[in-house]
Amino acid sequence: MQFETVIGLEVHAQLKTKTKIFCGCSTEFGKDPNENVCEVCSGMPGVLPVLNEKVMEYAAKMGLATNCTVNQKSIFARKNYFYPDLPKGYQISQFDLPICEHGHLDISWEDADGEKHGKRIGITRIHMEEDAGKNIHSVAENASFVDLNRTGVPLIEIVSEPDMRSADEAVAYLKALRSILLYLGICDGNLEEGSFRCDANISVRPVGQKEFGTRAELKNINSFRNIHKAIRYEVARQIDLIEDGEKVIQETRLYDADKGTTHSMRGKEEAHDYRYFPDPDLVPLVIADEWLGEWQASLPELPAERKARFIDDMELSADDAELISSEKDIADYFEEVLEIHNDPKKVVNWIKGDFLRELNQSEMTVAECKFKPEMMAKLIQLVDKDTISIKIGKDIFNDVFTNGLDPEKYVKDKGLVQISDSSSLEAVVDKVLADNPDEVEAFKGGKKKLMSFFMGQIMRETKGKANPGMVSKMISEKLS
Ligand code: ADP
Ligand code: MG
Ligand code: ZN
Repeated sequence: MQFETVIGLEVHAQLKTKTKIFCGCSTEFGKDPNENVCEVCSGMPGVLPVLNEKVMEYAAKMGLATNCTVNQKSIFARKNYFYPDLPKGYQISQFDLPICEHGHLDISWEDADGEKHGKRIGITRIHMEEDAGKNIHSVAENASFVDLNRTGVPLIEIVSEPDMRSADEAVAYLKALRSILLYLGICDGNLEEGSFRCDANISVRPVGQKEFGTRAELKNINSFRNIHKAIRYEVARQIDLIEDGEKVIQETRLYDADKGTTHSMRGKEEAHDYRYFPDPDLVPLVIADEWLGEWQASLPELPAERKARFIDDMELSADDAELISSEKDIADYFEEVLEIHNDPKKVVNWIKGDFLRELNQSEMTVAECKFKPEMMAKLIQLVDKDTISIKIGKDIFNDVFTNGLDPEKYVKDKGLVQISDSSSLEAVVDKVLADNPDEVEAFKGGKKKLMSFFMGQIMRETKGKANPGMVSKMISEKLS
């Protein structure tokens, strides 16, 4: 029997506000436990929540950026459950009337055979909610602790339709969402630190069957690579179960990154056993027309628009445009280089080859990187103006990148400036030809491939500094 995979994703994005969603406590990360806590977020009796305006603005902007309808009236609801990291005994979230609904996102991806695909993924809803705290279990102290610094930190939850059919699609969707969040500047999108968290709902069904199969929900996955692995593992597990005549049960499963497997965390019989009800402490949220208009007008250029501009105005290939535009930092860097050296195709090649390689190897963000756009522009100019050879440009890249050095000064100090002066070049060419009479004869007899042999010798003599164009012209003339 052939099976089809069905995936729907729930993404929690932590919003980059200065203060929490319903109180004035700081959201700053890395503080001592329970430093960012007040009566409201620690759930004292008799206190009242007050909505942080930035949270609705950010949630609405995410909705606008993903083609949602922004509901001008939305309702906060209590989701009731007990857990030590939730002192109120309920989480303030949204249920019946979320702030955004009915959106979609266009994604594209490449499969294992290198074939390109595109698809539209439905976004069911986006709602606002508060984060819970953290339980810390200490073996050393044989005790558990509760840290409420994260309690009340604002989140948006973005729920997709069950529209994805493979791990590739799921990862492409997540990358596209994250990219938009970063473009909007409303979330820092860090999977490892948990500011961008994904729960993956996965089911399988026989090809051709209309009804969805029973789903499992995977939690605890903190990198794109692990999301891909976790989905593939879970799909295989479900297919095995069915082929063995057993049933998939609806449950929440945890991904174990070390083992690459999933295991049951808790069963989930009824989806809605949280006794949601409208929060009586918060009035319905009504968004004025003017606000909505302002937010719409203040949306930045989004990744899809930027990609289109790179293709239309700069004539980049679709692949290059996608690669450069999907990360805002990299796209900004690219355009800053262009302000100094306006040759998009050349700059793209340096960025996707050398710059991204070094950036990945150093595990740095663009902001942390010491090699600033003006240095990159200078390096490309040195090569384009034949001041240094492309080979030297590539050779010195690691050094100037790592240490943030001015390439112009660097090549002067190290004496790497290309030899483009014909009399000094001619001396080297003559020497190499004189030293290799057999090759000279063979070249004259038609073995033109020997050009690269001569070039190699000359580069060795000049430590890579000879102007290759001038050298090959000189050799051709001398040996014709
Ligand atoms: P809950 O809030 O209980 O997790 P929802 O109905 O809100 O349940 O669904 C959550 C997510 O599960 C959505 O992204 C939805 O697309 C996805 N989903 C629902 N049914 C299935 C299914 N059979 N297979 C895969 N994903 C599903
Ligand atoms: Mg869920
Ligand atoms: Zn507080």
